[in-house]
Amino acid sequence: MDYEPIRKVVDSLAVQPNLLDYGATCASFSWEGVRREFAGLPEGGGLNIAHEAVDRHAAGPLRQKLAIRWLGRDGTVLDLTFGDLREGSNRFANVLTSLGIGKGERVFALAGRIPELYLAALGTLKNVGVFCPLFSAFGPDPILQRLSRGDARVLVTTERQYAKKVAGLRDRLPLLQYILLTDVEEDPGEGVLSLPRLMGAASADFTIPPTDPEDRAILHFTSGTTGMPKGAVHVHNAILTHLVTGRYVLDFHPDDIFWCTADPGWVTGTSYGIVAPLAHGITSIIDEADFDAERWYRILQEQRVTVWYTAPTAIRMLMRAPEEQRRRFDLSALRLVHSVGEPLNPEAVLWGERVLGLPIHDNWWQTETGGIMIANYAALEIRPGSMGRPLPGIEAAILWRRDDGTVEEVTAPDVEGELALRPGWPSMFREYLHDEERYRKCFAGGWYITGDLARRDADGWFWFVGRADDIIKTAGHMVGPFEVESALMEHPAVAEAGVIGKPEPVIGEIVKAFVVVKAGHEPTEELRLEILGFGRSKLGSAVAPKEIAFIDNLPKTRSGKIMRRLLKARELGLPEGDTSTLEA
Ligand code: ATP
Ligand code: MG
Repeated sequence: MDYEPIRKVVDSLAVQPNLLDYGATCASFSWEGVRREFAGLPEGGGLNIAHEAVDRHAAGPLRQKLAIRWLGRDGTVLDLTFGDLREGSNRFANVLTSLGIGKGERVFALAGRIPELYLAALGTLKNVGVFCPLFSAFGPDPILQRLSRGDARVLVTTERQYAKKVAGLRDRLPLLQYILLTDVEEDPGEGVLSLPRLMGAASADFTIPPTDPEDRAILHFTSGTTGMPKGAVHVHNAILTHLVTGRYVLDFHPDDIFWCTADPGWVTGTSYGIVAPLAHGITSIIDEADFDAERWYRILQEQRVTVWYTAPTAIRMLMRAPEEQRRRFDLSALRLVHSVGEPLNPEAVLWGERVLGLPIHDNWWQTETGGIMIANYAALEIRPGSMGRPLPGIEAAILWRRDDGTVEEVTAPDVEGELALRPGWPSMFREYLHDEERYRKCFAGGWYITGDLARRDADGWFWFVGRADDIIKTAGHMVGPFEVESALMEHPAVAEAGVIGKPEPVIGEIVKAFVVVKAGHEPTEELRLEILGFGRSKLGSAVAPKEIAFIDNLPKTRSGKIMRRLLKARELGLPEGDTSTLEA
């Protein structure tokens, strides 16, 4: 290991972590035990996410507690208590029933992070419908594709989004019966209704119908990093995972102020931007605006954020900003920083320690897993570059595939293979929408196969190697882009790097890196040669990039993931495939 582990001295932490003894917690863990922590709907009515996340708290001492502090782009602040959330989501659920929208029907949202989106999500869950949030920056094609694949019955959106992108699609969406506009007072036309008017007329009381824990709750499309986005369907029982990860990974305590920076268009923005903090009865910050280093530091300072959940792409952007900027802000309330979505380069973990005063905790999961599966924990040592250890209740393994397609578990340490999970955890996806065959192919030999490659060290820490699709085969070696990208990022002029395999007749593929230089550095030929040499000295000639090209920006998904398949297609002059999630 290149980097020294970061050890924690628990007595010196501001708050005693919930998970102290990893081994003992895993050994005594049971999902049935977690299920018993939830009240359930009255009279044996089952388990409903919105009841457990909102109504359960609103009916007790947390009624007046701040659940969501919403920060508008223009400086507006809106505070919603658990009681407010209950009323607002009840009204939305009543709006749906008054329109004849029932159980299992899909309600989509196409909006930024506006308060109505959160009420619509919770209200849809109360109505035992299926909620599907879309990124507001999607253009007409990705919107049409998702609404149509998802059999949308209702769309919640703004007047502007509707006029610009949706109005022209309506004749191709025969199932889409109602469009609810969040910012008009009068109904504009046939099937296009004013949400404020409907909400105003609706009752603030609603009785959640019986909900089976297996009832469908949320539909999320994957990020589209490796190809056409898949629609992963989740059920109400998923809240068990959200409760447990909130406790052990995000280490929620009653007085926490939590900020998850993800948009609900991406699974992190619902599982952790909505459900997990509410399930714990804690306060969340929701910022309507997009990334801006100054604004983000100010929010951390002014809102006294204690637990912060963000993504490597944002962290790398903060790393590019001058450190002097950070020093102008008081981040003394912050005690835990987590990251998800892409591998977190060791440099970023250490930057956190140095500049934020806290190491960054990486964790791993997917749209399909519905919640965090492998993580670094507040009380446990961090091995920089590792995504940590499986959540209590989760069994993770490294598999090898035999030629006949069957799999075998690799028990020896430090061997690369396919990362797999033992099926059956509560937030596991239950289907890929309209793609039964693809769903089935994710499972083999009693495992769910994630599509990522990883290795496990002798002590049980997991290390991400790459996506199976991104792995480079060069001169008999398998090279994961992450290893190369992380090494290049240690060069002082490199802000970011994206690495691909470029076909070459003799050795299979050569490693090629696309490099973004930091402000203040020029992409000169001299620098290119210097980084080539730097790569060779760090990685050895078999793994180091043979070619380096400078690029202004790496192509990324809206959830901030490097789209290596696009770098490759562009390099080779091949069709780009689905680009619906490409950040503009
Ligand atoms: P698609 O499946 O459509 O190609 P996607 O896999 O990027 O898109 P998501 O479900 O949003 O869609 O992302 C999950 C993937 O993100 C993981 O399978 C993994 O490749 C990557 N990922 C998430 N967290 C981490 C992490 N901490 N370290 C490394 N990779 C991560
Ligand atoms: Mg995926």
